[in-house]
Amino acid sequence: MEPWFEAEIDVPISAIEHFSYCPRQCALIHVEQTFDENQYTIRGRLAHERVDKGEESAADGVRILRGIPLWSERYRLRGKADVVELRPEGPYPIEYKVGRPHGVHADLQLCAQALCLEEMLSAEVPRGAIFHHAVRRRTEVVFTDSLRSRTIEMAEDIREMLVAQRLPAAPNDARCPRCSLINACLPSVVGEPHRLRGLQGALFRPLEVGPSDA
Ligand code: SF4
Repeated sequence: MEPWFEAEIDVPISAIEHFSYCPRQCALIHVEQTFDENQYTIRGRLAHERVDKGEESAADGVRILRGIPLWSERYRLRGKADVVELRPEGPYPIEYKVGRPHGVHADLQLCAQALCLEEMLSAEVPRGAIFHHAVRRRTEVVFTDSLRSRTIEMAEDIREMLVAQRLPAAPNDARCPRCSLINACLPSVVGEPHRLRGLQGALFRPLEVGPSDA
């Protein structure tokens, strides 16, 4: 058994989306506790504040829970669901995102929520949805075996990173301009080792002081 597997560390469900987008972004947030805002994070935070009030309601006979704490002892996960609809066929988690559908990052996060709900409620959770504010539409996500395996494997990779307190290298690619942590990460510097070496050399070189400066 790998040593990190025995570690008493729960993986935050939100870290799964971060890691899927960029492992370094995940480490900056969850290892180094770095946080910075950009237009995407501010809009996302405001959107979550609207649904994250822990209120309960009903529509068409379906009970709707908001801001529900989630955990899984089996997979060592913890987090929160924006919305869970308690449908006759089973719980149905819904995650709110500010932008447009974009890759599988949010699908993995939602799947982790489903794994928690299944364990907490002893119920099957075969599908859920992501509501994208930019297009004001729900996109349904089916929790297939492959999505479940990928989610569990990613949670294990994150736990390993958290235990090792490891900061992955910066890919410095098309993801970076949209990333709120670009100023903390400096991908164009740390992603180019020769440039970094040059800057490190200059950083510790004493300034030359001329007679007029004395
Ligand atoms: S700036 Fe780029 S490399 Fe750095 S954390 Fe963000 S996406 Fe990752």
